[in-house]
Amino acid sequence: MMKVRFWGTRGSIATPGVPTMRYGGNTSCVEVRSGNHILVFDAGTGIRGLGNDLIREFPNQPLEVHLFISHTHWDHIQGFPFFLPAYRRENKIHIYGPPGRDKSLEKILKIQMDSDYFPVELGDMNKNIEFHEVRDPVQIGPLTIDHFYLNHPALCLAYRVSEGKRSVVYATDNEPYYGSLHSPRGKGKATSDVPDYLDEKFVEFLKGAEIYIGEAQYTNAEYNEKKGWGHSPLEATVRFAVQANAGQLALYHHDPMHDDAFVDAMVNEANALVKTFHGATKCIGAKEGMELILG
Ligand SMILES: [Zn+2]
Repeated sequence: MMKVRFWGTRGSIATPGVPTMRYGGNTSCVEVRSGNHILVFDAGTGIRGLGNDLIREFPNQPLEVHLFISHTHWDHIQGFPFFLPAYRRENKIHIYGPPGRDKSLEKILKIQMDSDYFPVELGDMNKNIEFHEVRDPVQIGPLTIDHFYLNHPALCLAYRVSEGKRSVVYATDNEPYYGSLHSPRGKGKATSDVPDYLDEKFVEFLKGAEIYIGEAQYTNAEYNEKKGWGHSPLEATVRFAVQANAGQLALYHHDPMHDDAFVDAMVNEANALVKTFHGATKCIGAKEGMELILG
């Protein structure tokens, strides 16, 4: 049985406060648990709470944690220096992510903890931190983790965790190619089938996922102002979920400008769009602290 728990659902920057109380203000972090396997997706500020919780749950037991980083923009790595299990000698932490363009994944995380930015260096943490640049599917016990490159201004990976027939897809910071290639930054017209082909490849990756944690940072109107920034309008995320026949779409990576009432309205609109597309996907808003069970 797989269990999904949201520790941070916000995109771009942490936005604590009364207006974001229900959906949460911490940045990207999702835990997937199956048996004694602990998988974590992204190390935004939400990972701090997860780390504290793991230490409470396993006070005297060494931990093995598999942390998958989608990409190294701030809202996906900023919480890592506050992830307490990474300081305990007895624990083993595996960090997976895309190979860097000009710097390794390890180097990027190291720079974030340079003494100009943070008092403790990466090298002062537990020595049992192992970096893995993802090129092939990863096998952890009965779990297979496949990856897919997304359309974002950084090398950015989506992950699909499968256990038998059940699977959950974590895909955040993704712009539909039909928006950015057909009409980059609002200019130009469709000139080829390439964007549609690339979007179809993403839908293939999503196919039949029981849970799709999908980014929908913008409304359609907001997206028109922000083409090329690497994020999705709601319409695209819902369309892909329906095309892939995903069971549940958890709208994720909420924009810092969107308060709880705004996200509620986007969730309602998402469910209305599913009807328009003749789909069966159920849309919900990812909330900090929310737990979903597969099966
Ligand atoms: Zn992000």
